[in-house]
Amino acid sequence: MNGLPKVYAAHSVSVPVLGQGTWNMGDNPALRQEEIASLQYGIDYGLSVIDTAEMYGNGASERLVGEAIAGRRDKVFLVTKVLPSNASKEDVAQSCRKSLKRLGVDYVDLYLLHWAGRVPISETVEAFVKLCDEGLIKAWGVSNFDVAEMQTLEDLHTMPSCFANQVLYSLDHRGIEYDLLAYNRQKEVITMAYSPLGQGGRMLHNPVLQQVAARHITTEGQATPAQIALAWVLRQPDVLAIPKAGTLKHMTSNILSLEISLTERDMLDLDKAFAPPKKKWPLAML
Ligand code: NDP
Repeated sequence: MNGLPKVYAAHSVSVPVLGQGTWNMGDNPALRQEEIASLQYGIDYGLSVIDTAEMYGNGASERLVGEAIAGRRDKVFLVTKVLPSNASKEDVAQSCRKSLKRLGVDYVDLYLLHWAGRVPISETVEAFVKLCDEGLIKAWGVSNFDVAEMQTLEDLHTMPSCFANQVLYSLDHRGIEYDLLAYNRQKEVITMAYSPLGQGGRMLHNPVLQQVAARHITTEGQATPAQIALAWVLRQPDVLAIPKAGTLKHMTSNILSLEISLTERDMLDLDKAFAPPKKKWPLAML
């Protein structure tokens, strides 16, 4: 754990730059044991940030995470999310307690609003602050918030302030580079990059990504497009990536991406294949 690079937030808290996603985990009983083993391998290696949500499998992901972290709670920085449909004062309090129960813990380290909904953000944040006061959450944040929404949050002058903004960020979704990434950085809000591997889909078959991968080796052998995609997200010091690995093979492969330093030539080639934004794009979300 000590050797892993860290990302720092305004709250004097730092966490390793590589975390673990859990969307779809717990949905298929046949995969359950390997998913748990993969999460536990990651935790023991030092990938302490585990991201889940009440939405994932209607609580199935939180239950699986609860099983994986039993006996390891002190090694984990646990993140879960409340749905916008549960974002009223009363519902946030209830949702949080239900999440804690499914996770088998007394508190979560970070509680996020999954995306903005109809409930005024001031009401949700008030509920988050109350949960902080009660010790049920250590910090709060948001997900899928663009700059305008982040500014609304800032205007609330809440203490504690927003810890993190979890957004879609990968080679094929670079919109946040136009302004949101810099905004978060300036306000010392951690940017949590979700779906950094393009959900393991088409993006990884891009020929340029494959060519860049062919130029790198890790201690375990030839680098893969997934490792390059992850190394690219992690190239900047203040972004936390949360890829989901349901197998030990994928988990160890993702850890090895920390060995890869992209060259200027790699960056230029990737910029040509996955163009950075030249103007404001609406924030993409899944
Ligand atoms: P990712 O980009 O993390 O991709 C996950 C997919 O890639 C899985 O199919 C996985 O397969 C595969 N994979 C993992 N490692 C490798 C590897 N080394 N080589 C090849 N394939 C690999 O997508 P997610 O959408 O899961 O995003 C990550 C996490 O972000 C989520 O799990 C969730 O926690 C969070 N999230 C948050 C959202 C939000 O709105 N806040 C929205 C979406 C995601 P396998 O499972 O077989 O290992």
